[in-house]
Amino acid sequence: MACQQFDLVADHLQIPEIERARLKYPKRSLTVALPILRDDGALEVFSGYRVQHHLTLGPTKGGLRYHPDVTLGEVAALAMWMSWKCALTGLPYGGAKGGIACDPRAMSCVELERLTRRYTQEMIPFIGPQVDIMAPDVGTNEQTMAWMMDSYSVHMGYTVPSIVTGKPVGLGGSLGRREATGRGVSYLINRAMDTIAMPSAQATAVVQGFGNVGSVAAYSLEKYGVKVIAISDVNGGVFNQKGLDLRRLDEHVERTRTVVGFSEAEPISNEQLLITPCDILIPAALERQITEANAGRIQCRILAEAANGPTTPEADVILEQRPDIFVIPDILCNAGGVVVSYFEWVQDLQSFFWTETEVTDKLFRILEGAFIQTLSLSRKQKTSMRLAALSLGVKRVQEAKRLRGLFP
Ligand code: NAD
Repeated sequence: MACQQFDLVADHLQIPEIERARLKYPKRSLTVALPILRDDGALEVFSGYRVQHHLTLGPTKGGLRYHPDVTLGEVAALAMWMSWKCALTGLPYGGAKGGIACDPRAMSCVELERLTRRYTQEMIPFIGPQVDIMAPDVGTNEQTMAWMMDSYSVHMGYTVPSIVTGKPVGLGGSLGRREATGRGVSYLINRAMDTIAMPSAQATAVVQGFGNVGSVAAYSLEKYGVKVIAISDVNGGVFNQKGLDLRRLDEHVERTRTVVGFSEAEPISNEQLLITPCDILIPAALERQITEANAGRIQCRILAEAANGPTTPEADVILEQRPDIFVIPDILCNAGGVVVSYFEWVQDLQSFFWTETEVTDKLFRILEGAFIQTLSLSRKQKTSMRLAALSLGVKRVQEAKRLRGLFP
């Protein structure tokens, strides 16, 4: 998917053949075997990956994912998208991504700590605050980042907070980082509502995924007056046309670890959820959710891609023929996370910390700039918002590579 998208953009930008491969291939990748002891005494070896897509503009930046379906190919695609996202928002980073093929829900906290520390140890020659900086993604969280920071710092012999972002605030994390991605998603949805003249007070939203991004996006939209009518997680979904009580749903999730079984709503499958009539549809779980099979049947005015790669290229072709849907493409929609990760890194390097208001104001300013530039280009060139956003990102990396020249 990432390569197909890149080829389309390269054709659109008329990038000469000679420059394409240099932009496309990941610069470096590392695969590691991670042996750990399970709680029952068995030894299990997990596969871990890290891909750094390009190093032209500074260190690489990107999340770390724990999920059974993680592969080197998936990580490479996510790293490439990170490159275009960082360039679109003007951050001095290349893209990276990491992952371990494991099921964190079937592992104890002690096992996850062992696995994270082992992965960090194996990654030491490959990462650093000026080389590659990790952050949470699907299946990882602040605690994962705290273990990584501790393992790296123990190796160095001094404390290195800038080795990861998305850590607890008590360890040099940034205020507003946990909320940044979901907050950014809802800010951009608000801008999209302005653009298509949709009043937020009567709008309805459907959210796939109730993790970090999906839950914060739901809560922030509520503040704008939007009614969230359906939410799902990996086990299934819940629907209430009158609007879900998010606090009561949170209490239910706290008790049962899933949205399924929430008594104040009807059950709904993930497939059904995606085609539920609503004003705003927010896929906030995994890749490839909007496909050729359902793209013609989704019934929303705004598709806000909070997840990375939720729409396949085949579905994109269908969406391009649906002017009724305003798409906020993933590299723009979920960029809030990496923007505040960048703020966290800057604060750690300077050992000087900002208030949450400063963080959020600066975040919205960067997202506003990226939104306006993407919208203007898409209108000027009569292209989709995705092609416009990708064009801006790819072009900046292309220009940087041109300026630096080829070595030797
Ligand atoms: P998370 O692990 O906190 O939550 C993921 C959620 O998706 C969970 O509720 C899980 O149950 C649900 N889910 C998993 N598989 C599903 C399926 N098949 N159907 C429905 N729901 C499913 O992860 P997150 O950090 O919220 O990340 C979500 C998405 O946002 C990912 O695509 C991630 O790459 C992207 N993203 C995250 C950040 C960040 O700051 N965390 C930043 C940018 C992009």
